[in-house]
Amino acid sequence: MGRKKRVGFADLQTTHAELGRGELRCPQCTRSVSDADGLKFIPALGQSESSLATLNCPRCRTMLSIRFIAGT
Ligand SMILES: [Zn+2]
Repeated sequence: MGRKKRVGFADLQTTHAELGRGELRCPQCTRSVSDADGLKFIPALGQSESSLATLNCPRCRTMLSIRFIAGT
């Protein structure tokens, strides 16, 4: 609030299946992003599998915070 916007941040929700199909897109520039772009999982205490990851969009540098939800 009240701060100038520089590097953007975005929170996304996706599933591993969507990521694998290349359907995850940066909300700022709509470039599709994948784990090949440097996706980093954040270890979560008390969880065997991390469901949170970060990624900097290679095109617009927006910092994406990605939460993986259970797929169907
Ligand atoms: Zn982007």
